Amino acid sequence: SSKPSSKFTATTKALSKADKEMAKFYVLIGPPGAGKGTQAKIIADKYGLVHISSGDLFRENLKNETELGKLAQGFMARGELVPDDVTIGMVRDRISRPDCKNGALLDGFPRTPAQADALAVMLKEFDSKVELVPLIDVPAQVLIDRLSGRWSCRAQGHVFHEKFNPPQVAGICDIDGSELYQREDDQRSTVENRIKVYTQQTAPLIEYYQSRNLLVTVDGTKPIDEVSADLQAAIEKA
Ligand code: ADP
Ligand code: AMP
Repeated sequence: SSKPSSKFTATTKALSKADKEMAKFYVLIGPPGAGKGTQAKIIADKYGLVHISSGDLFRENLKNETELGKLAQGFMARGELVPDDVTIGMVRDRISRPDCKNGALLDGFPRTPAQADALAVMLKEFDSKVELVPLIDVPAQVLIDRLSGRWSCRAQGHVFHEKFNPPQVAGICDIDGSELYQREDDQRSTVENRIKVYTQQTAPLIEYYQSRNLLVTVDGTKPIDEVSADLQAAIEKA
């Protein structure tokens, strides 16, 4: 018969369990403009993790004029959060894809305690959990300057800043050559609302993850490469 010996079965079971346990999920939190997207690209590259930005997923849906995009559009334009059920479903779909089997770096999700609870439940289904939650800490007055000078890449969400991190050629992404544009929700009035929304709805996650011993705070006012080094040190210590 082709039935494998019990010894063989035990070994393969142990191996697949070990495989699953390698999946590592990290959550970057911080106010809009803190540098989450910038750092996520660097850290994900370094550790071979998939970068999942809920904002990028919504913008992709907007561009492709999907039902989800139409639903999210108004909330995004006003700088409000898209409702939890919609956001959670979108991220669950993304995390379920096979490229996340080794884990992912989440950027912009979760943004409410309800989303954080949902994340814990979905990762448990994949025999995984949140490994570490780095908070990129930047005071509110710096954020307006960061976002008003931000230029984002159409193709893959790479970000630049006209003063702090200029592209080599104005208007062109250094990494993939696509067009750079200024996000509509980066205008001052919308940014102010996004910061208020962060303080009211997302900042409670600091306490949420602190009480679960997952939070580590890095100073996001330092230059980009120093913030990256601090994040890497935190990840390697965890
Ligand atoms: P977030 O994803 O948290 O909204 P981004 O990574 O898009 O933030 O960064 C916001 C803006 O600030 C971008 O224009 C980026 O180039 C710039 N930026 C990011 N990190 C730093 C830093 N450490 N110092 C100065 N500017 C930064
Ligand atoms: P971001 O690219 O992270 O700045 O997100 C841009 C916009 O997308 C936000 O202002 C929200 O309208 C929406 N968004 C992104 N992530 C979430 C989330 N986790 N929950 C609700 N809305 C979100």
